[in-house]
This record gives sequence, structure tokens and C-alpha cells, in this order.
Amino acid sequence: MSDEAGAEDVELEARLEEQAEFEPPESFVEQANVSDPEIYEEFDETWPNCWRAAAELLDWEDDYDQVLDDSNPPFYEWFTGGSLNASTNCLDRHLEERGDEAAVEWVGEPTDEANRTYTYEELHREVNEFAAALRDIGVEEDDVVTMYMPMIPELPIAMLACARIGAPHSVVFAGFSADALATRMNSADSEYLVTCDGYYRRGDALDHLDKANEGLESVEHDVESVVVDRLGDELEHSLAPNQHDYEELVTEHAGATVEPVDRDAEDMLFLMYTSGTTGQPKGVKHTTGGYLSWAAWTSQAVLDIKPEDTYFCTADIGWITGHSYIVYGPLALGTTTTMYEGTPDHPERDRLWEIVEDLEVTQLYTAPTAIRAFMKWGSEYPDAHDLSSLRLLGTVGEPINPRAWKWYYKYIGGEECPIVDTWWQTETGGMMVTTLPGVKNMKPGSAGPPLPGLDVEIVDTNGDQVEPGRAGYLTVQKPWPGMLRTLYQNDERYIEEYWEEYSDTDSDDPEDWVYFPEDGAKIDEDGYITVLGRVDDVLNVSGHRLGTMEIESAIVGVEGVAEAAVVGGEHELKGEAVYTYVITEDGYEGDDALRQRITESIEDAIGPIARPEEIVFTPELPKTRSGKIMRRLLEDIANEAELGDTSTLRNPDVVEEIRTKVQD
Ligand code: ATP
Ligand code: MG
Repeated sequence: MSDEAGAEDVELEARLEEQAEFEPPESFVEQANVSDPEIYEEFDETWPNCWRAAAELLDWEDDYDQVLDDSNPPFYEWFTGGSLNASTNCLDRHLEERGDEAAVEWVGEPTDEANRTYTYEELHREVNEFAAALRDIGVEEDDVVTMYMPMIPELPIAMLACARIGAPHSVVFAGFSADALATRMNSADSEYLVTCDGYYRRGDALDHLDKANEGLESVEHDVESVVVDRLGDELEHSLAPNQHDYEELVTEHAGATVEPVDRDAEDMLFLMYTSGTTGQPKGVKHTTGGYLSWAAWTSQAVLDIKPEDTYFCTADIGWITGHSYIVYGPLALGTTTTMYEGTPDHPERDRLWEIVEDLEVTQLYTAPTAIRAFMKWGSEYPDAHDLSSLRLLGTVGEPINPRAWKWYYKYIGGEECPIVDTWWQTETGGMMVTTLPGVKNMKPGSAGPPLPGLDVEIVDTNGDQVEPGRAGYLTVQKPWPGMLRTLYQNDERYIEEYWEEYSDTDSDDPEDWVYFPEDGAKIDEDGYITVLGRVDDVLNVSGHRLGTMEIESAIVGVEGVAEAAVVGGEHELKGEAVYTYVITEDGYEGDDALRQRITESIEDAIGPIARPEEIVFTPELPKTRSGKIMRRLLEDIANEAELGDTSTLRNPDVVEEIRTKVQD
């Protein structure tokens, strides 16, 4: 880098650092799917009928009679009387106009392997053939089919094949253990499994079928499975009698067409078990009409997806983000959705930027944890590629601190792409709180206002709204089409987990029912919501409630810090004390000078009350496979307690390493 460019860079950094609010770029607004600010008022006035707008994005077999049936809260029903098929909506209806356009663009991890492009025509054919195959092995309407697969094209094909025949799917993230698979199959009484021999991860061919088979040993009933051969000669397996080779099955049904099964709007489309970072896995039930219209509407309004786009979400389909925003939303809108098998740093740290350049990706949707890694690696990786095709950026999964937001904005978006920071959960089906990118200004660190038609309030423990700027609990006061309908075969736990806290559970008036996602948040004078993290992520230091997220944000704002996690450790006087774990950026030392700057930054941002008891520098943080920091373990370390379960960690070794440092 020349000195001049260096100076410009510093100036730009300084300018960005100051800036707290960003307007959507004019060029974006001009072409945005939603650009009329009136939408907020309009939706409020017409609620719940405003959600006809979402239903209208779909093709219905039978029209619905009622938008919302709220006669039995919290068991709400949407678009009742209507019927449709999700695979028809994602495939058949696009054939005439877009049959030859790419539906799925799949990028394998090995760089010498050609991309696999499926046009709508081809995807439709594959889905039909596999739907016929599933029927052939016995799958009937309403049977739950489990999928335990990595990011290979057969995963969305299998999901859509299930949707076609009205069999709900339950996708289990491929990185989960054999036990996790068995628990979920037992819980859902699932007698069918689609899996594969293995897959590539950072250049290695990983065995997957052994793990699947191990899981099957603990399943309490008989299971028919289908096995995709991803690795060919790299990995040989023999199949048991009730295991079918995917390719053989599909070849037997070459050219088959399967009439899509007419599904009631309220029929289950899929089950998704939440990752379980906070307890026993919960089988979240999503429906055909409400969920699909929610996925489609938010994809259109927030991700600004148009049919001619090449859209790229880096999540795994094993998470809800992949369900809603790799598969159902984008395909319902007839666009090209990108799937990448590998990790962003294989073979080099510019792999994603290479994909964006090659495919001319128009929207990129990723997670703060990835953005912080990119930031740590440095801007030379994105700088080496032409990213000018990008029009919009998104993040999801956890709060994004302003510094990472601005890095993303500048180095990936070239200051020309709006960023949507989208708050939502498995249970909400799709996005809930975020800016409409063609309408609202962005405030780094704040997800934004609730989407139009949503009634979100930040309340105190009594359920009363808190003043702007004060920490409280995020609640949703009115139902929405994409919401979960219940926990699979457990209505009681559904009420307990999500409603009891703020509802009058004896009432049948929907006004008395409030959905509680268990996240803390605060709201500003403009109605922008900053999500502070899970409520158990709020510390109580000498009677002051401090969000771990606010403290983390202050730490990550310090030059030289790449990532930070804050937890509470028991403290004799204060009740709880602030423990911080910090990863430095490449080229920075974790020394006392940096400790000093971190402490100052926290005191400036929050006050001396939040001054950390201990600052530990560590090369890594314990993370779940979905990329969430496992604070529970860091708390155990701070409290010198027995370490809890580490089996769902991506990097279990790091825990011991950190513990040694704390004890030093
Ligand atoms: P489990 O419910 O099993 O503990 P999980 O909550 O990690 O797992 P998800 O449904 O994938 O599973 O995650 C949703 C949670 O992620 C939200 O409740 C919130 O805490 C966090 N989250 C998601 N998006 C954002 C965002 N944009 N800003 C802040 N937090 C977010
Ligand atoms: Mg959750």
C-alpha cells in the first residue's frame, strides 16, 4: 500500500468511526423492491390483512377464507382454508418463464471440482424423481423424513421432494453428533433418513455415514435410509439392506413426475430442532402457508431479491437461516441461490470473495462471527477481488458490533451497499427486526425497527414498556404468519417456553398473549432496537444490569481487538463481576497497554461499574457449531466451576487452554 493510500485509509476510518447513522445509497433506493415509507403506517392500519401481501407472493391451490384465526391463542392459524404446495411454489410455477435460468448454483469445496448449476427445469426434474423414489421406499404424507446432510445439492432436492409429497422434513445439521441425530429421530418418530457417505472439509474427505450409522443404532424403531455418494472412490461404504443408494433409486425413477400433494395452509412443512444451546432440543413446527409466505415476503422486502439476482447466503441449510434464506425464500421468488460446501478459508482466506467475483453475486448474507474473522484476516483478501456486483449485505445470528459493521460496509460493500442486520430466530421462521433497506437509515450496532406489521415492545419484568435507552426484554405483542405453531407434540412446553412469561394464560383474548423470545434489548427514540443477547446474558453487577453485548461492543471497538466475550463471574461484593475474554487482531500483542485501553473503552461506553475484574487474552473462544459463543463455559471458567458439557462445541480444546490462563 502506498503512503498516500494509507493516509486516505486512515481518514476514511476516522470518518466512519464518527458516523452513527447511514442513509441507504440512492442507487439502491431507486431499484428497491420496497421503497415507500408509507408501508409502516399502511400495515399498522390494515393488520392482519396487511399479510395478504405476503400470501400474494405465492400460488395457492385453494384460496384462503381468513387471514388470521386467533380464536384459540397462542395456537394461531394463518390463511385458513387455503391450500398450496411448497415445491410447486419453488419450482413448477417458474418453469415457463425461468426454466432455463439457474435455480441453484452449487460450489464444491475442492477448487478443481466444477460448480454444479441446476436450472429450474433440472431442479424440478431431480425433485420429481426423488419424490417418486421416496414414495417407493414407503414415505407417505405426514411422515417425518430426517435429513442428515452437509451442503450438497441433494439436500435442497430432498427437502423439496418431501414438500412435494407432503412429508415434513427434519434437517439435522451434519456437524452434530450421532447422539444428536438419534435424539431427534426418536423425538419425531422419524422412520426415514436421507444422508451421505461423507464430504470435504478443509481439503479432507470426512466420513459421515459411520456417524449416521452410529446414530441409527440408538434409534428405537426401524429406519429406511437413502445414502448419497458424495465422495465417490475416495470413500467406500457397504450399505445395509434397508439403506438405498441415492443414485440407483433416482435412476429407477428417471423421468418420473409426481403430482404435488395439496397441503392445507396449516399443515406442517417441516420440523426444525433448535441448536439446544439453552437446554433440551425443541422441535419447532413450521407450516406450509404461513412459513412460506413469510420466507418469501422477507426475502423480497429485506434481501431485495429479484429473479435475475445471484444471491448468496453462507449459512448451512442445517440451520433455519439456510431453510428460509437459501432454500424456501429465494426459490419461491425464482432467483438463483448459491450454495457453498466448504469453509471461507479454504484453500485461502479469499474463497468467499472469489465466489462473489466469479458468480457476480448480488446479495451476501452472512454472520457477525464470520465478519469478525474476515476483519481479523485483513482487508487484503477482499481487496484482491472485484466485489462490485454486490448490491446488498446482510448479517444474522448475533449482535454485530459497530466496528465489524463498518468494516463490512467499507471493505465488502465498498460503501455502496446497505446492510441489513436481521434479528430473528428458528421460532420466528424469518426476519422480524431489521431495516427495510430501501426505506430506513442504518445505525451500526442496532438491528433497526420491527418490520412493518409487527408489534415489538421492549418491556420490564412487569411487562411495561421501558424508556428508550434502558435495557429490557424483547417481546412480540401480536402474532405473525411465519411464527412457530407449537413444539412438536408438546403444546404445553410451547406455552411454557414462549408465552407464559408475559401472558395471561387463562385468557382467550389474543390481546393478553405476548410472545417472549428470551432476548434482552433496548430501543432508541427512533424506535431502533439493539438486541443485547439472550436474557441470561445480562449481568447483575452491584445491582446494575449490564448487557454482555454492550460491554463486548465497547471492547471490540478498541484497535487491536478482533473479538471478545464477556461473562459474569461470582463476586463476593458485587454479586457478579465482569470477566472478559479477548482475541487480538493479527499483529497485536495482548499486553498491559491493550488491557488499559480496553478498560478505558468500557468505562467510557458504560461507566466504571462495568470495569472488568479480569481480561484474558486467548487465541480462540469456545463456539457452538452454529458459531455462537458458549458463554456458559466461560462462566464456568470464571467461577472455577466444574466444566459443563462441551460436546456440542466446534473447538472443545480451547476451553482447557483458557482455563489454564485464568488460573495463572
Ligand atoms: P437455542 O434456542 O437452542 O438456544 P439459538 O437461539 O442459538 O439456539 P437460533 O434460533 O438460530 O438458535 O438463534 C436465534 C438467536 O440468535 C436469537 O434469539 C438471538 O439471541 C440471536 N440473534 C439472531 N440474530 C440476531 C441479530 N441480528 N442481532 C442480535 N442477536 C441475534
Ligand atoms: Mg433460541
